[in-house]
Amino acid sequence: MKAVRLYGPRDIRVDDVPRPEPGPGDALIRVRAVGVCGSDVHYYVDGHIGDAVPELPFTLGHEFAGEVEALGPGVTWPPVGTRVAVDPAIPCGQCETCQEGNPNCCPSVRFPGSAPVPGALSEWYVHPAHLCEPIPDELGFDDGAMLEPLGVDVHALTLAKVRPGDIVAILGAGPIGLLALQLCARSFTGAVYVMEPIPERREMALRMGATAVCDPNAEDPVAWLLAQTQGRGADLVLEAAWGEQAVDQAVHMAKPAGRVVLIGIPREDVVTFSAGNARRKGLTILMSRRMKAVYKRAMALVARDAVDLQALITHRFPLERSAEAFDLVASLRDGVIKVMIEL
Ligand SMILES: [Zn+2]
Ligand SMILES: [Zn+2]
Repeated sequence: MKAVRLYGPRDIRVDDVPRPEPGPGDALIRVRAVGVCGSDVHYYVDGHIGDAVPELPFTLGHEFAGEVEALGPGVTWPPVGTRVAVDPAIPCGQCETCQEGNPNCCPSVRFPGSAPVPGALSEWYVHPAHLCEPIPDELGFDDGAMLEPLGVDVHALTLAKVRPGDIVAILGAGPIGLLALQLCARSFTGAVYVMEPIPERREMALRMGATAVCDPNAEDPVAWLLAQTQGRGADLVLEAAWGEQAVDQAVHMAKPAGRVVLIGIPREDVVTFSAGNARRKGLTILMSRRMKAVYKRAMALVARDAVDLQALITHRFPLERSAEAFDLVASLRDGVIKVMIEL
């Protein structure tokens, strides 16, 4: 079968590799759509994410959906032929952290496209059957793949304990920032302010319900946010950017006793913020780690049209042109938001 493999920074090739066989508990999935994620692009550009370094060549991709084509021994569900979205994380289920109900933080978690587990950017993929969520007929495979980034936001906003009337600030209007914006703007939040350097993304943020948007390259985003809120600051700040200063800015934007949720993956492995500012305000700073058991909730949002996933998919490529897809996402050109690779 064909699989897309990373050979080094900015070097991606389509190879022929053996098709995997489903083992006990597994489903063999004919992959139909794979979203390119910012985290994939970290691997693509730098060859690693923090201290996670894959052995090359390495297949990326964790936002995917497809059709169940075969089942491993002992598996009866979901039936062959079912269209499924895939919850990529495979926690061990046994450790103290899993037992406590935090499988997203399992130290032994296996995650497609995250070293050392190969990703799904291939014609077939084997994954535990119980992590395959059937998708309704109305949803495309691309929608199914988008459930993964949507799930990231459902989890982050669950952690954030969003309250009716909250003033929300979002740093970064990539897919994660824009999905968070949609969820906030369409619920009972008081206002949602978005900061984003790319003009097309700011425009999309306005279309998706942002109260106001700011170009952080043109003006100081902290001063802007404070001016927008008459000096009060935001109840909740969501950091969904890559920027080195974004965490410090988020801390300065939060009101006293506010919450800051860090969703983005900083390029450098160290983040710095003003301890004095954060401490005096008694901020709650949360690291959002992937997601846990959110697919059903994410799917319910899509099913009732509470979120527009299609608006985020700006580009589509066939598997053979995956290198172009990654290059486009890495370059942030052409108004790119989410790139879908379709098979
Ligand atoms: Zn992702
Ligand atoms: Zn575990």
